[in-house]
Amino acid sequence: MGLNEIRRRMLAAETAAGRSPGDVTLIAVSKVQPPARVEAVLKAGQRVFGENYVQEAAGKWPGWRGEFPGTQLHMIGPLQTNKLNAALDLFDAIHTLDRPSLAQKLARQVQARGHCPQLFVQVNTGAEPQKAGILPAATDAFIADCRALGLTLSGLMCIPPEDQDPVPHFRILRGLAGRNGLSGLSMGMSADFEAAIAEGATHIRVGSAIFGARDYG
Ligand SMILES: *Cc1c(COP(=O)(O)O)cnc(C)c1O
Repeated sequence: MGLNEIRRRMLAAETAAGRSPGDVTLIAVSKVQPPARVEAVLKAGQRVFGENYVQEAAGKWPGWRGEFPGTQLHMIGPLQTNKLNAALDLFDAIHTLDRPSLAQKLARQVQARGHCPQLFVQVNTGAEPQKAGILPAATDAFIADCRALGLTLSGLMCIPPEDQDPVPHFRILRGLAGRNGLSGLSMGMSADFEAAIAEGATHIRVGSAIFGARDYG
């Protein structure tokens, strides 16, 4: 599909939803992609990227960031607490604040560094046992706990169950964000970003539709 086609479809979805052009931030998910594909997208002007693995991101991004000023990196994969410091050195945003122990360690680091990345709480909207995230019923309390720790939250993130209509999940996320005074909604991927934009997404995370299929070989 490619970057230009995604941009065109984003604009159409924003317009159809009565939203302003450029309202939605495109996070180009570059995990596991060959460097040549990522460079082509950087050269086309894309500056916001998502990665899932701290080590992989630390290996490839410092060089590109020097070469392409203004590049922003978003952590969208599960974050182990022993990688937190490396993640804070690297990422401008973390979309996977998914448990109390991570919130506590994050709060300590944020205080020590005097700087907080953009933070999204990951909500397990489908209550899937194998998936990370705060359960919807526990989300209000978790947000309150994060705020009590001094963390400033930007919004909520979800990954709907693969085999279901994502729209009810997007609506659950929007409802939880709204009643907690959060404006950021990180939702929508290659297969469903237009539906997510219609439901109020502020950040969409699109990988394979931009770069092509991932080869985990
Ligand atoms: C890999 C990944 C994406 C991108 O998925 P595509 O289907 O390739 O667009 C988005 N969000 C998360 C959390 C991911 O891990």
